[in-house]
Amino acid sequence: MGRFWWKCAALTDVGRVRRSNEDSVYCSAESGVFVVADGMGGHAAGEVASAIASEWIAERLCGACMTMELEQVEDRFRTAFVEAGREILRQAAENATRLGMGTTATVLLLRQDGQYIMGHIGDSRGYRVRDGVLSQITRDHSWVQEQVDRGMITPEQAKNHPQSNIITRALGTEAYPTPDLYDGTIESGDIFLLASDGLTDMLSDEHMLKILEAEEDPERCVARLVKEANLAGGLDNVSALVARIGEGS
Ligand code: CA
Repeated sequence: MGRFWWKCAALTDVGRVRRSNEDSVYCSAESGVFVVADGMGGHAAGEVASAIASEWIAERLCGACMTMELEQVEDRFRTAFVEAGREILRQAAENATRLGMGTTATVLLLRQDGQYIMGHIGDSRGYRVRDGVLSQITRDHSWVQEQVDRGMITPEQAKNHPQSNIITRALGTEAYPTPDLYDGTIESGDIFLLASDGLTDMLSDEHMLKILEAEEDPERCVARLVKEANLAGGLDNVSALVARIGEGS
């Protein structure tokens, strides 16, 4: 089979201010499927929405996606997002306390043949570290990002902006949610990070990169990312998922 492998770990934490954790994570080294989802909606509905998203999407991406044509995998991603979104709408319609629930989802598929595919909706992010450089792969579906794109505010002003909670695309808010899809090749030594905004709002890119490079063991790495986000305030639920790529036996 393929020549690439990975070590991975995920951790989600309530943070230091919120009373419940509405984030969900899914991490399977075997299937190469990884999800971070950040739910919203009162009465514990947010955590229901993010759990539906991570479970439904993960279930639909496992198995054949490791060997399918890239185009087919991307179709599978789109379908998985739409189906998860519909399931959230269906469960919201059945239970008044869950009306309006929704979630972000950032999804990574790693393949042993050296391909990665990432799908994303909302403002949870996917990053890759290669040769000591941290690159954000996803682009937030948020009002603040739109202002940055229009040149109305700088990326620095976007960080911790008071309107940063307004997201422009999510699962559970529309009948046909459309994820943005990215694909590329993986190399030995690459590190992928998926994170909810409770991590990325608390830590600078430089700070995250320092931790990703210092902690080779993914378990220790996610523990330290979460710990330092909490030390920086822990204003929101914090989720971090790390996968490190290796090659050969
Ligand atoms: Ca959040």
